[in-house]
Amino acid sequence: MKNLIVANWKMNPQTYLEAEDLVRNILSGVKELNNTEVVICPPFTWLTDFSHKNESLVSFGAQNVFYEEKGAYTGEISSQMLKSAKVDYVIVGHSERRKYFGETDEIVNKKIKKALEVGLKVIFCIGETAEENINAKKNEVLEKQIKKGLNGISNLENVNIAYEPVWAIGTGNNCSVGEAKISIGFIKKIVEEKTRILYGGSVKIENSGAYIKEAGANGLLVGGASLNAEEFIKIVKSAE
Ligand code: PEP
Repeated sequence: MKNLIVANWKMNPQTYLEAEDLVRNILSGVKELNNTEVVICPPFTWLTDFSHKNESLVSFGAQNVFYEEKGAYTGEISSQMLKSAKVDYVIVGHSERRKYFGETDEIVNKKIKKALEVGLKVIFCIGETAEENINAKKNEVLEKQIKKGLNGISNLENVNIAYEPVWAIGTGNNCSVGEAKISIGFIKKIVEEKTRILYGGSVKIENSGAYIKEAGANGLLVGGASLNAEEFIKIVKSAE
């Protein structure tokens, strides 16, 4: 199983030219990989242009999807649309979507089911808040998110779980490798080692390799650092 390195650009960059430049620079640095799969998740506006133009070196992923198939859902995008637009992956349950857009475990579950149904691969995000961590609720929260998010799903072949402590996302305060190792081990047990477990939360070149080599992660979900091609390429190479 290859390591999976995912670039989550979030709502960046602001112009097509910058986005095109970023994707071109990343592609030029990820040509000879043996053990690593790279997925780039740009905003929808740039996604399908890139997925049609740059098919072979990396895969492309969406940052969100809706669980209904079609119809009167203004502003939404279906799994089938992504699939037919040469998009291979979709991020579901990111903490920013849970926090700002009211995504519950039930909604996340519906999205994952629909995405898998059409053959998309899912990057399913879970993670505890700072408060839950301080109050020793981490394991309880992670188990609940996994059980509810994957409710009714038995084939985990196309599911990747990203463990992202909410307090570590975009803060520069990354989870220690020791703590990540414990959480990743806990998650692996719950899913009986049937999926890749990624780490996400302030990943940078200084810490990326250790999450894979020491904490046992099978990949990384990279936000801020994926907006800098040079740094992202180094992170990818640290996983090789
Ligand atoms: C993320 O977007 O999932 C993320 C982990 O962001 P950052 O790397 O910026 O913390």
